[in-house]
Amino acid sequence: MTSSKIIQPGSTLGMLGGGQLGGFFTESALKMGYKVAVWDPSNLAPAKRFATFSFNAAFDDIDAMKNFVKAVDASSLEWENVPVTLVEKLESEIDMRPGSISLGLAQNRIREKSFLSKHNFDLADYRVIHSKSELDSVNLSLPWIVKTATLGYDGHGQWLVPNSSHIKSTKENMTGIGPWVVERVVQFEQELSVVVGLHQNGQTTTYPPTENIHENSILKLSISPARIPTKVLREAQDLATEVVLRIGEAGVFCVELFSLINGSLLVNEIAPRPHNSGHHTIDTFTISQYELQIRALCGLPMPTPVMKGHSVLLNILGEEMSQLATEAKWKSILANQHARIYLYGKESIRPGRKMGHILFQGDKLETLIPEALETQKLLAYP
Ligand code: AMP
Repeated sequence: MTSSKIIQPGSTLGMLGGGQLGGFFTESALKMGYKVAVWDPSNLAPAKRFATFSFNAAFDDIDAMKNFVKAVDASSLEWENVPVTLVEKLESEIDMRPGSISLGLAQNRIREKSFLSKHNFDLADYRVIHSKSELDSVNLSLPWIVKTATLGYDGHGQWLVPNSSHIKSTKENMTGIGPWVVERVVQFEQELSVVVGLHQNGQTTTYPPTENIHENSILKLSISPARIPTKVLREAQDLATEVVLRIGEAGVFCVELFSLINGSLLVNEIAPRPHNSGHHTIDTFTISQYELQIRALCGLPMPTPVMKGHSVLLNILGEEMSQLATEAKWKSILANQHARIYLYGKESIRPGRKMGHILFQGDKLETLIPEALETQKLLAYP
């Protein structure tokens, strides 16, 4: 269903997935006068701390789906692995923004890459293999990253193949039943993410690109705005906008890019939702990515968000929570006038799990970056 009517405050918005992204959406929606029904199979999902209604059933529960449709006026999502079949059923009854097309692309790297290639977007070279033995005959120059086509995240389901002597061990280590994507390693200058909103009337809104630094394939630091020439900044926004327009579903998206030394840009991934590298927009833009998601869902105006400051976002991963729990460290972080600590309320702590973030906000990245790096050292697991 795609209605052009505005969904007014007082209505109930649905959210599929109850992680931190859903939590920030829900908080933001409550502030704007909406109610929110959060559906996540875990009754401990962080977003349920703010939910007006909680759905705890599995995503294939037909009765839960019927009740969800009755409870909400429209729905968005925050998790890529919500079943496409559920979203297809929901979108026949209510406005789903984004919908099953975006979700289907984001859930499968092969589908996503062939969609991007078909529309002439530049990507890292890749091949598809359906069995591990096919890795021996991949016709692509090394080094490679092998990625599962589905269900990979934060480096899970990815194997680096630096040279041909690692092919044998990679085949032994690879998990899953395939298919896999074999991707050439890109010597990027920077990784960028661009959040884009698409209104049902075709209007688009973007934020300046964020520069992302990963450690062990997990997002560690996000610097806003990215330290790139203005020309590349604009090109990145234009490219991300074109990708989202090609998908053509209203909602908020994040397009991840590699910026190369020669200034050209490659598309890495599309997320059909706000992004962890965009949490800073809560503090440093007049409209956060979560409010933009609500505006796109409800058909409200989506003017360009105005930047209020620069920021460096430091993710707090599972193993670092014990360090943060030390009173002296906690106090010393909060004694910095630039720093704000956000914790997501996740009950179980696992290594590498995103538990929260610290946002360093101010006028100068030259001040904020060293502060974030010092704090990262303070939290490092011994
Ligand atoms: P992905 O899940 O595809 O976003 O990959 C996770 C991270 O691995 C990326 O953010 C990059 O840091 C790194 N990575 C993925 N693909 C490539 C590539 N083709 N070349 C270099 N680094 C990559």
